[in-house]
Amino acid sequence: MSTTHSIALLPGDGIGPELAVEARKVLDAVAARNSVTFNILEADFGGAAYFKHGQSFPEATKAICDRADAILKGPIGLSFEESKKIPVDEQPERGALLPLRRRYNTFANFRPVFLPPELAHFSPLKPHVVAGGIDIMMIRELVGGLYFGKKEVGTREDGTRYVVEHLEYDEHQISAIMKIAFDEAMGRKKVLHNVHKSNVLKSSVLWNEILDEVHRDYPDVEVKHIIVDAAATALVINPRQFDVMVMENMFGDILSDLGGGILGSLGLMPSACVGPEKAYYEPSHGSAPDIAGKGIANPYSMIGSVALMLDKSFGMKEAADQIWLAIRSVFGAGITTADLRDPEGKLTILKTSEFGDKVVKAIQG
Ligand code: NAD
Repeated sequence: MSTTHSIALLPGDGIGPELAVEARKVLDAVAARNSVTFNILEADFGGAAYFKHGQSFPEATKAICDRADAILKGPIGLSFEESKKIPVDEQPERGALLPLRRRYNTFANFRPVFLPPELAHFSPLKPHVVAGGIDIMMIRELVGGLYFGKKEVGTREDGTRYVVEHLEYDEHQISAIMKIAFDEAMGRKKVLHNVHKSNVLKSSVLWNEILDEVHRDYPDVEVKHIIVDAAATALVINPRQFDVMVMENMFGDILSDLGGGILGSLGLMPSACVGPEKAYYEPSHGSAPDIAGKGIANPYSMIGSVALMLDKSFGMKEAADQIWLAIRSVFGAGITTADLRDPEGKLTILKTSEFGDKVVKAIQG
């Protein structure tokens, strides 16, 4: 009898629905090859949900997510102009994304910044900097810090408008993400770069203290400290020095987009957002309103998120590897999407769905 896994599929906004179609195709191919059944339930989420139901994270979507074994989410978000049509608290990030993360306490965000040597030409960095490829696992704390702290907006007696946003962490939150990062380092090169700003932020002082405490349980891991601004420079000048990096929420938001930049496109950035009981998977990037509806988005970020889901939520490492291999073989055959560099003009540039078809074919073998 074949195993069944239930998946809540949230296509989202902008290019999200286009990417969701490719995810479904890949899941069908994996199901056919591995005698497994995926029970996929689609639900509205983000701006699309607000315009349909008046809520960006509707109750019906919550119920579907609660019941599912894992959640696969397309990017959400609206263009600056469109977002002004929605009340501030219902705008996609505040009204849907952060509540999703809070609901399932998905504190551990895995963001692979990966470009194998044969695809190093996609990177905008000089060939000598990326020869040998890029292979970094960024671990970002996802439910704490400035994004989840108390907020206050007001007007002082003299009429000056002000805002206060709190950057909050406690030792339990920090030690939880540190254990994830040390475990990841143990499974890789046993080197962990700790990204912080303890020269200015007290939150980083506590962060580093807890890191030292957790480190005692992982004596085989070498810890290297780097201040966040220096880390931004180092990622561009010498990204190959990094293997596993751990950082708090906002640092991770910014540095992981820089990760997409050094790969050559945010379309190469899948991610896993893991909580104690449930995980959700999403491209790291946004809804790309500038290319939505054109059929040219790179589906790697979504297909890679499917692979992460199979591995982390369903224990299907072999099937996940089939997907990684399939994507790599498609790129390896000189096929790409329009976002990636083609310095010599030798690549075949396909539309989103054509690229997805090639991946499916490669999975089918
Ligand atoms: P973005 O990440 O959507 O796009 C930045 C650039 O990368 C654009 O030029 C876009 O075309 C390109 N890009 C992104 N994904 C691509 C892909 N798969 N293939 C090819 N090119 C791709 O950033 P933005 O434009 O600043 O944000 C758009 C919306 O997305 C905003 O509303 C933002 O708040 C939201 N957002 C959502 C998430 C999320 O759902 N987790 C994350 C980041 C931003």
